[in-house]
Amino acid sequence: MSVYALVTGGSRGIGRATALRFAREGWSVVIAYREKRGQAEEAAREARRLGAPEAYTVQVDVGDPGSVSRMAMEVSKLVPHLNVLVNAAGILQLGGIEDTTLEEWEKTIRVNLTGVYLVTRALLPLLEKAPWASVVNIASIAGETGNVVAGIAYAASKAGVIGLTKRLAVMLAPRGIRVNAVAPSFVETDMTKSFLDTPEKRERVKSLHPLGVILKPEDVAEAVLFLADPAKSRGITGHVLSINAGRRT
Ligand code: NAP
Repeated sequence: MSVYALVTGGSRGIGRATALRFAREGWSVVIAYREKRGQAEEAAREARRLGAPEAYTVQVDVGDPGSVSRMAMEVSKLVPHLNVLVNAAGILQLGGIEDTTLEEWEKTIRVNLTGVYLVTRALLPLLEKAPWASVVNIASIAGETGNVVAGIAYAASKAGVIGLTKRLAVMLAPRGIRVNAVAPSFVETDMTKSFLDTPEKRERVKSLHPLGVILKPEDVAEAVLFLADPAKSRGITGHVLSINAGRRT
């Protein structure tokens, strides 16, 4: 039976690399994007070229319940079931407690944390229709340790994703659905480009990582595939896999 995976944030960065990694496994993919439709369609074409039997794009604002409901309805017309959901959509927020406005706080929590709740809830019926299913959430090292450049709302949102992952894993285990997360350190994407746009900045990021590397979206995608695929991780649920090149704080 065909494997179907939906990736939010699939138009760019970690989500795109994950969708393409799934395509190379021969899985069909649904690439969800917020506004970069052209990039999402290009990713879908690339997914088909790499081996996805089917590749679709859907638009969604993960923080908007109405938009998420419409997306779930659209997806239910495109695919018979979903085996894999990857919640990769996210926004970065910088700033400490005095310079984070309430508006900025609420927007970050809404997209990064409420978005995971809304999308998972809306797609649960399609996950339950599949013979096997798993959810992989993209958390962050910012949710594990305070010693990061990200702001307070971002760190809180990603710690929330970790808590949600662990609780959902227990709740959905009786229904045969595994729920795990990855927690990457700096990964080279649009989100982090302002931290990596000079040789000096790149050296600084490398020096944060004992392995001396800058992580790539493909490094995360490989770990997401591991957690998503029951042939690789059947016995793992409620786990947070750190992808941090050895960074501990
Ligand atoms: P990115 O390159 O900036 O891509 C962000 C993706 O999220 C895009 O596909 C974007 O869609 C989508 N998105 C943003 N807001 C959305 C919304 N309201 N509704 C639906 N989709 C939305 O980011 P990235 O670096 O790949 O990050 C992916 C995930 O990894 C995020 O959750 C991020 O927090 C996490 N992460 C990143 C790093 C890092 O160093 N890069 C480290 C740890 C964790 P459009 O293209 O349509 O705008």
